[in-house]
Amino acid sequence: AHSLRESLFVVNQFASEYFQDILYNHIDGQRIGMTYLRSRGFRDDIIKKFQLGYSTDSHDALARTAKQKGYQEEFLVKTGLCYRKDDGSLRDRFWGRVIFPVHTLSGKVVAFGGRVLSAATKNVQMKYVNSPESEIYHKSRELYGIYFAKQEIVRQDRCFLVEGYTDVISMHQSGIENVVASSGTALTPDQIRLIHRFTNNITVLYDGDGAGIKASIRGIDMLLEEGMNVKVCLLPDGDDPDSFARKHNATDYQAYINEHEVDFIRFKTNLLMEEAGKDPIKRASLISSIVKSISVIPDAIVRSVYTRECSQLLQMEEKVLIEAVAKLMEQAQ
Ligand code: ATP
Ligand code: MN
Ligand code: MN
Ligand code: MN
Repeated sequence: AHSLRESLFVVNQFASEYFQDILYNHIDGQRIGMTYLRSRGFRDDIIKKFQLGYSTDSHDALARTAKQKGYQEEFLVKTGLCYRKDDGSLRDRFWGRVIFPVHTLSGKVVAFGGRVLSAATKNVQMKYVNSPESEIYHKSRELYGIYFAKQEIVRQDRCFLVEGYTDVISMHQSGIENVVASSGTALTPDQIRLIHRFTNNITVLYDGDGAGIKASIRGIDMLLEEGMNVKVCLLPDGDDPDSFARKHNATDYQAYINEHEVDFIRFKTNLLMEEAGKDPIKRASLISSIVKSISVIPDAIVRSVYTRECSQLLQMEEKVLIEAVAKLMEQAQ
């Protein structure tokens, strides 16, 4: 007999194949789903590799097909693929969307993301719908793309972090495979440890518009705490990792990153300095924020390298910074 967890993975696998079957063999899958994916520039081999699918406008097509094939309602509900209406009947969570299966490290389908296609419905419907938390899916522990990226992360000894599904897929298509997405939320310690199993080096790729940069700074402190070397790369204004990948091949993309990435402490210092201007109170609080980032770094040598660099950037005596870092570390004991 299967355990509950196994049963949920089995149902997810069925659903993933079902959504793909619709994409390839159903008239709407081709006419709407595939047309959309191609219009975004996704190649057929990439669509296949990431097991993208489509869900039709029917509100219970998956539920009906699954039951016909003998899958139990209980599991359809517990995976979040369906939910029960007041009258007891099942309704699909995903309909009228392209489907992005989320894979575990070992390649099992653990959840789904679904994206609306039509611009008209964009304002009334959420752009993305995702599987809810379940017995097998804890959003904070998974990283989109890790299954497809892990080998290349090891080979390159480096991992790129992006925001969304399409960023991961487009970068793969352009030949950069060591990339994962946090799926729009701040990184969690579990996700950081997942990356850390494969590399110490992470480069965060931000959209050029700079939105969300400040919010993610706290998340990056956690990366430092975990002992990772963190770099940040800003893309040109108006680009995200997906749109940039469609304009550049892997070599040019890598070259851009290598040229524009800066280590996180320098990035944070520059950003905050710009913000603080000459205001002494703001400058003082920026310095303590940077001292705090440095103080969480576990490795003493890395800490001292950063302390020196910051003393130059901030034009402060190194001794003062060293003392401030030491004091914070004492307090944290
Ligand atoms: P696209 O290029 O298709 O617009 P995107 O990845 O650029 O997609 P963003 O709006 O930048 O979309 O969001 C980044 C990620 O955040 C998405 O890939 C998705 O994982 C998650 N996300 C976005 N909107 C939602 C939402 N309404 N509900 C849940 N998750 C979302
Ligand atoms: Mn985006
Ligand atoms: Mn390590
Ligand atoms: Mn995008």
